[in-house]
Amino acid sequence: MISFEKAQSIVQSSCKLMSKEEVELHQLLGRVLAQEVVSDMNMPPFDKSAVDGYACRKSDMMDLLEVVEVVPAGKVPREVVGEHQCTKIMTGAMMPKGADCVLMIEDTAQVDCLHIRYKKDSVKNNICLLGEDMKTEQVAISADVKIQPQHIAVLAALGYTKAWVYKKPTVAILSTGDELVEPSKKPEQGQIRNSNGHQLVAQVLRAGGIPIYMGIVEDNERATFNAIKKAIDESDLLLLTGGVSMGDFDFVPSVLIRCGVDVLFDSVAVQPGKPTTFGKTDSGKLVFGLPGNPVSSFSQFELLVRPAMQAMMGEKPKELFMRMKLGADYRRKNTERLAFVPATITLTGEVLPAEYHGSAHIFSLPGAQGLLAVPLGVAELKKGEEVDVRPI
Ligand code: AMP
Ligand code: MG
Repeated sequence: MISFEKAQSIVQSSCKLMSKEEVELHQLLGRVLAQEVVSDMNMPPFDKSAVDGYACRKSDMMDLLEVVEVVPAGKVPREVVGEHQCTKIMTGAMMPKGADCVLMIEDTAQVDCLHIRYKKDSVKNNICLLGEDMKTEQVAISADVKIQPQHIAVLAALGYTKAWVYKKPTVAILSTGDELVEPSKKPEQGQIRNSNGHQLVAQVLRAGGIPIYMGIVEDNERATFNAIKKAIDESDLLLLTGGVSMGDFDFVPSVLIRCGVDVLFDSVAVQPGKPTTFGKTDSGKLVFGLPGNPVSSFSQFELLVRPAMQAMMGEKPKELFMRMKLGADYRRKNTERLAFVPATITLTGEVLPAEYHGSAHIFSLPGAQGLLAVPLGVAELKKGEEVDVRPI
């Protein structure tokens, strides 16, 4: 049995970066940039007015000013602003030559149809200067950034209709277990519905991967071998659930070895999720054997698989845990493993362990927003203590 930290580092060092693909602007959300985004222009591209008002010489601002032109946004001013003159200008319009400030329209008075006067005695420039936000050739977004809507604005402003990003991994999902039936069926005696497989489809989608749902595999060696072989061939990453424990019909570990998978660990000091198994093929494909119980499968996906997918897609490693205050005392008996307990997060930022009966208790998760980490060797956590929480 290895520590969770060791498992994390084995997984991270086994991840291979996906190849790159060019993707259209509207499809870039959530993808990780495999290139720098470089500005092809100065931003703003010209000195522009920051307000609606009158562009004039600052030295004239207390005088009666003659309006020589009206400049809407998008138009190029034709007149030079001379002494005791001004140009009526709209927000975002190009500054006329000769002017060095803009008097806000709210602070002026119309004297007659051709003249205005400023009502205050001081003025800000109210000009956005050419290149003050971004210079030509400057890097606007560095590589390895995960694209959010605000990055899309920058890409659009700089004329990028496409960008190079890392490909999404294809993730095969196989559920093992003779007791399993699909959700469309009413389970007969001794059967249960396959919840893991479908939960994993959603987790893979949320993590930015492409799920390939491969159904249920019977608990026999031949079926498991054939299904694993096919799944490895057809995906970048394989997720199996069940069949990794010590039962008579848990064939996954031995079949993985027969399929040429180098099994790097098969037991982690975490609760739930102890039999979590991980390996790699010669061609660098990753395989996770997740425990059958749905809370274990869920947690180990969030803690080990999701960070692996992020690494494959080029995302910079992120802190797994947030530090939060515990909102109630917590106690447990067995302290041999690092525990992850479904927990709610209050509006005031406290974390509270949820009602949780064990790793089959899928109903503990929908109301939870985090997994509270209870460190190895720790039996008791006190209200008010700082704890590690993995948001889910
Ligand atoms: P196993 O790891 O195969 O020994 O399974 C452990 C427990 O998880 C058993 O109670 C299984 O019935 C249950 N289980 C296994 N696979 C699934 C699944 N896909 N969906 C829901 N429960 C499962
Ligand atoms: Mg099983």
